[in-house]
Amino acid sequence: MASAMLLPGAATLGVMGGGQLGRMFVHAAQSLGFRTVVLDPDADSPAGLVAHEHVQSDYLDPAGLARLSAVCDAITTEFENVPATALTQLAASRAVAPAGSAVAVCQDRADEKAHFKASGVACAPHAVIRSAAELAFVPDSLLPGILKTARMGYDGKGQIRVRDAAELAAGFAALKGVPCVLEQMLPLQLELSVIVARGADGAIVNFPVQQNLHRDGILAVTEVPAPAVSAELQAEAVASAGRIAASMGYVGVLCVEFFLLQDGRLVVNEMAPRPHNSGHYTMNGCDVSQFELQVRAMAGLPLPQPRLHSPTLMLNLLGDLWFDAAGQERTPVWDQVLALPGTHLHLYGKQSARPGRKMGHLNITAASAEAARDVAQRAARLLG
Ligand code: ADP
Ligand code: MG
Repeated sequence: MASAMLLPGAATLGVMGGGQLGRMFVHAAQSLGFRTVVLDPDADSPAGLVAHEHVQSDYLDPAGLARLSAVCDAITTEFENVPATALTQLAASRAVAPAGSAVAVCQDRADEKAHFKASGVACAPHAVIRSAAELAFVPDSLLPGILKTARMGYDGKGQIRVRDAAELAAGFAALKGVPCVLEQMLPLQLELSVIVARGADGAIVNFPVQQNLHRDGILAVTEVPAPAVSAELQAEAVASAGRIAASMGYVGVLCVEFFLLQDGRLVVNEMAPRPHNSGHYTMNGCDVSQFELQVRAMAGLPLPQPRLHSPTLMLNLLGDLWFDAAGQERTPVWDQVLALPGTHLHLYGKQSARPGRKMGHLNITAASAEAARDVAQRAARLLG
């Protein structure tokens, strides 16, 4: 359904999924005066706990979807693995952004790469492997490579590094023979991402380029301005992200991840049809957050070009920090961390900590990148 403008204070926004991204979306929507509804099967979901209403149901449950569309004026999603069919169903009666068709492209690495190519943006050399029989046709040039399940992978899960044809065959079997994409292992210099927001009228704005550091496949640190990415490459990344969004008629916030190769070339990695972990710094470093832009985009409100007002560094807070060296559970020393200048703590309200689980993030704003880095090091020492 076409989206009319929804005014703050007078409409209800819904979100499929109740994780931390949904929670921060709900906070942003509420601060603009919107009523909020979250659909998530989990009774204790981080977003369900703070929304005006929590529809506790499966993503495909007709009764849950009917309730969501009955009470909401517009609906979005906070994670890409919500069944695209559920979004398409909701779209029959309500404005949905991003569209199920765009989310479907992001759900499948093979479709995603085809879309990158169609948008004229270079991605890693790759082959789609849908059956064991197709292993024989994989060109040697893709090895060593990374075998990734086409669907449902995240935070480095569903990926196996393979050196040769034998490891590839074993890896494909270990991934249970599901459709996969084999990517050539690229010599990375660093990783970056760009978040754009596009309105139904085609207007597009972008946050500044983020430089990202991953540990064990999980985002660990984001730094803005990107310290080691030239202005030309930043402009190229922003233009590419914009083309990728526009060429699928995308509405909402989209994050596009890139690799900067050792030879200086920029290659697109993957995209997420929603606000992204690497954009959490916007909550304190920019004059508008990625979550507020998602609210504005789905409500048909104006999308201002965001402005970075402070160099910002984001540290992801994983569940590991809730355990000491002996494995005993503890509360991190937040009082000491918050005594450091420019620290902004965001905890997601998760009931229990587990190693590797995203529990929150710490944004550090400062007058200079050096000062932000210095505070980040002190915070990391206190938490470590
Ligand atoms: P996820 O969905 O788990 O984030 P990614 O495709 O982003 O999956 O891969 C996770 C990480 O693995 C990347 O951030 C990067 O560090 C590394 N990686 C992925 N693909 C390649 C590649 N083709 N060459 C080199 N490193 C890669
Ligand atoms: Mg990734």
